[in-house]
Amino acid sequence: MDIFSDKIVVITGAGSGIGRALALEFGKLGARMAINDRDKGALEETVSLLEGQGIEHIYASSFDVASNKDMHSFAQTIKQRWGNAYVIINNAGIEGGESPVYQTTEKTYRHVMDVNFFGVVNGCEAFLPQLVANNEGAVVNISSIFGLVGMMNYSAYSASKFAVRGYTESLMVEFHNSPISIHCVHPGGIKTNISTTELSKKHLITPPEDLARYIIESIKKDRPRIVYGNGSFKVWLGSRIMSQKMMKALLWKQLS
Ligand code: NAD
Repeated sequence: MDIFSDKIVVITGAGSGIGRALALEFGKLGARMAINDRDKGALEETVSLLEGQGIEHIYASSFDVASNKDMHSFAQTIKQRWGNAYVIINNAGIEGGESPVYQTTEKTYRHVMDVNFFGVVNGCEAFLPQLVANNEGAVVNISSIFGLVGMMNYSAYSASKFAVRGYTESLMVEFHNSPISIHCVHPGGIKTNISTTELSKKHLITPPEDLARYIIESIKKDRPRIVYGNGSFKVWLGSRIMSQKMMKALLWKQLS
């Protein structure tokens, strides 16, 4: 898929960071923007920024992506208003807090999975039929470099991002040889609001706009795995060629 003008692009978690940057980049290409965020105020700011770019076709809806019902009514409203979506970007996500496994509760695991994994499942379930009806489109699911390697003190986040990866890779096989392209994104450290710890500030440095442009280029080139951002290449390569022991040593050195 390489022409986005007048096509409906759906982005979850578009009130901040990567989602907002994606909305602004797709807006520049003339797409119709259907955007979501749980944070109504943040979503309204993105709408203002899009309007400031002269974008006319914007539909914004504030709800929690963990709600299957709300995701389906979002999809229905878009269809009734404009027709079938062409691109669904399941981006909304949370970090879920920092704690070692033995201090992380089942409640935390469920909450992080609800947003990071079931949010993606809900987005695909609600919008894939629209893409299939067009016989054209792209699904972009945002995992992480911690969907490539497990991360100390972020087991809930890492588990949810591995789940996104497994789910998306299954979709890739199911949609092989189809006009619908499936993409799994593994961002490295991107400068967003997802975390404000001192350690994050040191590592989250890649501008979200750069990642947004790379994702769009990757959809055009039908690149299924999208690895981009600070430290991402090293982690991806490490996950492919290094032993678990070496990988752990590298992560300790990088992140402590
Ligand atoms: P961000 O916090 O700046 O933006 C995330 C947005 O998602 C926020 O506006 C938030 O309100 C929204 N959101 C959170 N939970 C939601 C929910 N349940 N329903 C609807 N909206 C919700 O963070 P970001 O870095 O732009 O994160 C975007 C995605 O990228 C996430 O999935 C994140 O895990 C992933 N990611 C980010 C990095 C990074 O370095 N920033 C690295 C790897 C992966």
